[in-house]
Amino acid sequence: MTDCIFCRIANGEIPAKIVRQDADTVAFRDLNPQAPTHVLVIPRRHLATLLDAGPEDGPLLAKLTQAAVEVARDLGLADDGFRLVVNTRESAGQSVFHLHVHLLGGRRMRWPPG
Ligand code: AMP
Repeated sequence: MTDCIFCRIANGEIPAKIVRQDADTVAFRDLNPQAPTHVLVIPRRHLATLLDAGPEDGPLLAKLTQAAVEVARDLGLADDGFRLVVNTRESAGQSVFHLHVHLLGGRRMRWPPG
């Protein structure tokens, strides 16, 4: 989608601090980090939300999770732990409508989340 900011990052049209990429996914630093490490992992293919992923997207969702875990390991978060979050639609606070997994780490997380 040409007017989607995350599609444009995936296509290299908008700069981002990319930490990992492959044929299906891109991971880059969040512009407004909520933890010492805050990375977003997105599919290259545009899906607005998790609700738009069908049964055929199971392998893609697995790749997203695996990419996030790989980044967590690479950035030294495996020992202390980390959190993955997928905000979905308005009540969860989704602000960019291109599916993304937040990888948060480097500090103690609270529960329940706000
Ligand atoms: P969400 O609120 O779950 O939709 O998360 C969207 C996230 O995208 C927020 O944490 C923003 O800080 C982040 N964000 C928005 N624009 C950019 C950008 N151009 N580069 C990196 N992160 C961004």
